[in-house]
Amino acid sequence: MYHTYSNMFSKLECTIIEKAIAEAELNCAGEIRVHIDKKCDGDVVESAIRTFHRLSMQKTKLRNGVLFYFASESRKFAVIGDVGINEKVGKDFWDSITSTLETYFRDGNFVDGLVVGIRQCGEKLKVFFPYQSDDKDELPNTVSFGD
Ligand code: CA
Repeated sequence: MYHTYSNMFSKLECTIIEKAIAEAELNCAGEIRVHIDKKCDGDVVESAIRTFHRLSMQKTKLRNGVLFYFASESRKFAVIGDVGINEKVGKDFWDSITSTLETYFRDGNFVDGLVVGIRQCGEKLKVFFPYQSDDKDELPNTVSFGD
């Protein structure tokens, strides 16, 4: 069901994900990143929060970063956002994105799931953080990998 870390995403698939992030960020003023770790022994949300800070994702002007975090071998994932987003959205915001991802992941469709989840995130963020004409790409759109 889940791929192992090493072959989780090909280079092409990373490009597809990065394109989805770039498109979503043209829809809203949010900053989306995807990070893949091999293992997560503890709580996946705590690991996601640690990664969020390690990637300096809290350093956006509007505190509107969103991290899609995966631990591929541990078969866990979490989607979290910074304080600027959580001031405005409730748990249902994250639940709906999580359930979209779960639907795709269940069938092993990681890339499709991410692309749809990222798009959905952009659409939802647009309501609270509309795209600004002077919007800067504050965080890289590239998929990052842990050790
Ligand atoms: Ca970005």
